[in-house]
Amino acid sequence: MEPGPKETQPLIDTNARLSLDDRFQFDCGPHVPCFTECCRKLQLVLTPYDALRLRKRLHMASDRFLDELTILRRRTSHGFPEVMLRMDPDSGKRCPFVTEAGCSVYEDRPGACRIYPIGRASTKHPILDTREEFYFTVKEDHCRGFEQRREWTVREWISDQGVEEYNRLNDLLMELYVLGSRRRRAELTPQHVQMFMMALYNGERFREFVLKSGFLRRFDVDPDLVERFDSDDIDLLEFAFQWLKFALFQEPTLSIREPVKNP
Ligand code: SF4
Ligand code: SF4
Repeated sequence: MEPGPKETQPLIDTNARLSLDDRFQFDCGPHVPCFTECCRKLQLVLTPYDALRLRKRLHMASDRFLDELTILRRRTSHGFPEVMLRMDPDSGKRCPFVTEAGCSVYEDRPGACRIYPIGRASTKHPILDTREEFYFTVKEDHCRGFEQRREWTVREWISDQGVEEYNRLNDLLMELYVLGSRRRRAELTPQHVQMFMMALYNGERFREFVLKSGFLRRFDVDPDLVERFDSDDIDLLEFAFQWLKFALFQEPTLSIREPVKNP
């Protein structure tokens, strides 16, 4: 399957809410007449997990990945910049990874490419800490996948496309966006934005900040977790979300060490 996200006025039927067990008819791959059309006319926001998977796939350091393959969208409703994949400069809309044979980074393609043509809405109850989610189809004129005969449940599609880990980590980003939206945008300073970019999109720098500055003298972090920070990019990324919630929104996600008293 080789789906991609879309840019132009898709028909999004959020009234027709789909549950995980609802079915839809769709297929995609080299056999469809529109193969890779969806990768040639798009804007694509990269979440931190998307960026991590892609830069590791491409063996690029974060600084180089951000410089060469992304641009920043700064005016957003939540106040944080959005990292956009830099499209082909000639067309302005063609994904740099699309080839005649399909997606050249298929195993590490972004979450939006995986879940398409399904959309997911997810909200977290502020008090009960429960999450409500539903799904819907995104239909666009050029996408002929809905004319194919294969049937899926939403659950089957999500599993087949490997979306679960993306959803889990992307929900953490959505929580930050919600916090950012609640706060007046003017309160997010350039320093806050720098913290956001370092923690979520520059794992090497964030790792150094946590392990080599005085961070661990100030914060009480589980030593087993600290040990994993050296090698586990996902643990480090999850911790980055916790730190940002604490540092930017005063959420109680980290514990400060008690000062050592002199005898
Ligand atoms: S069927 Fe849709 S998702 Fe698949 S290649 Fe065609 S346009 Fe893209
Ligand atoms: S990353 Fe792959 S699937 Fe996504 S738009 Fe680019 S070529 Fe298409």
